[in-house]
Amino acid sequence: MAIVLGHTIHLWNVNPDTFLKNERWVRHELCHVRQYDENGFFSFICKYLYQSIRYGYTNNKFEVEARKAESA
Ligand SMILES: [Zn+2]
Repeated sequence: MAIVLGHTIHLWNVNPDTFLKNERWVRHELCHVRQYDENGFFSFICKYLYQSIRYGYTNNKFEVEARKAESA
C-alpha cells in the first residue's frame, strides 16, 4: 500500500520498482500529492479525514478524483 504525506509517497509491503511499474497506481498517488499542494498540508489531512468519516474511503472526493486520474 502507499500513503502520501506532502511530497513523499510512503510504500508499505511493496518495493519501489513494483510501484513505479504500475502507471495507474503512480498516477493515483501523484494526484494525492497535487491535492496536498492545492489544499495545504494540514488542511488536506483534515479535509481528507472528514471526507473519509463522512462518506467512507470509496466515496471520499479525494479518492474519487485520484481514481479518475489513474486513467487520465
Ligand atoms: Zn488514494
